[in-house]
Amino acid sequence: MVKNTNQHPDPFTEITRREHAITQADIKSHGWQPALVASQKRQDAIANLIVSSVSGGIACHAGCWYCCYFKVDVHAEEVFRIVDYVRAKFSPARVAQLQEDVATNTKTLQALSTQGQLTANLKCAFLDNGQCSIYEVRPARCKTFHAKDVEGCKKSYEDPNDLSIPSSFIPELLHAGEAHLTGFRQALADADYDTNAYELNAAMAMALADSTPKRRFEKHKKAFVGMVKG
Ligand code: SF4
Repeated sequence: MVKNTNQHPDPFTEITRREHAITQADIKSHGWQPALVASQKRQDAIANLIVSSVSGGIACHAGCWYCCYFKVDVHAEEVFRIVDYVRAKFSPARVAQLQEDVATNTKTLQALSTQGQLTANLKCAFLDNGQCSIYEVRPARCKTFHAKDVEGCKKSYEDPNDLSIPSSFIPELLHAGEAHLTGFRQALADADYDTNAYELNAAMAMALADSTPKRRFEKHKKAFVGMVKG
């Protein structure tokens, strides 16, 4: 059979290809930090486009926090952007409180099995009065969680051990977010930067304590050592 070479790539493959090419060029011309900021803007634009096309709209709104009681995976470059944001926007007392909260969450998670971590309903250290206190720079993973129906999120929160509850997240948004992040990380890997996933609380605790993780990242080394990966 002759292969049909005229087929168009599927939209998610195309998102990855495009993001890879743009970020590669951005890292070369401007460095990883401006490349990250620009990539996060593009991810937001794609997400907004998908959200605006969902018939009946989405259920997510400020003050809804059911999906903020999960373990969150992050990547080193995202952690450094969050640290910069926190240092610029939070008072010293609030930063100190955050350091305490991420340390407590880290201890709690480290004492649990992998399954236990998934069902612990652990409150995110950034959740403040029902709202994300770092919304502009929240982890990419959080940006892919948008639901059409709040009931699934509520049920999962109320019964975290029931892993059979179907996800109410919008699949197109999840897939597009994944595709975007794959392209971005391919470009980071091409430039020989750390692309490991880390657990949010443990990574924040280390990055807030001193600048070693960021210096290691900039030297193209593994940013966080001695901690469990996300
Ligand atoms: S970082 Fe923000 S959006 Fe993500 S889980 Fe924490 S509070 Fe929720």
